[in-house]
Amino acid sequence: MSRYQILVIEDDAPVRNLITTTLKANGYQYITAGNGESAVMDAASHNPDIILLDLGLPDIDGVEVIRRIRGWSNVPIIVISARSEDTDKIDALDAGADDYLTKPFSVEELLARLRVTQRRIALIQNAGQEQAVYTNGDLKIDYASGCVYLGGEEMHLTPIEYKLLCLLAQNTGKVLTHTFILQKVWGSSWESNVGSLRVFMATLRKKLEKTPDAPQYIQTHIGIGYRMLKVE
Ligand code: CA
Repeated sequence: MSRYQILVIEDDAPVRNLITTTLKANGYQYITAGNGESAVMDAASHNPDIILLDLGLPDIDGVEVIRRIRGWSNVPIIVISARSEDTDKIDALDAGADDYLTKPFSVEELLARLRVTQRRIALIQNAGQEQAVYTNGDLKIDYASGCVYLGGEEMHLTPIEYKLLCLLAQNTGKVLTHTFILQKVWGSSWESNVGSLRVFMATLRKKLEKTPDAPQYIQTHIGIGYRMLKVE
């Protein structure tokens, strides 16, 4: 039996049943909510490990549910969006969601997202002791000295590339939106300069990834942003 308890917030019964059947078959514990108000109360009273949140709820908007829960909790939130518009996902991610699934999704996709989130939870628990060195596969960041190593070799990064890499590393497993990255690395004046971000990301990847076309570390979410993956 998995020690993870998932709060499933979804008003559409067939989708909710698909999710809970999958969770049950894979040893997860779960609780369900059919609207936003009761979901916020369930999140507070049950303190779940992961939240699966449908953005289109009958009472309050899913993004508002995220904002309320983020008022007191950092629980990982995976949003489920029926709409293909990127703006919903971007709003949800900027409000504090960690990841997203687009309907219709497969059972395999759902399980894969949960595994990514579980690895993120494990990383956050380890980071409780304020790690001075970040390790992920062959990548090592020594925060104290500001040195980055790949397979034991020191990488030569520009200050911007280093800032970008640290931001992604500190949020391993979480999808970061373009706006979030631009604000953190350059400050708000760069808010809309996604083109420049793309250029810096390409040069960073050239140094970091063995095959930049099939990146191992930094995943692209087209129209949305980037995510550092935990490399096994
Ligand atoms: Ca819905």
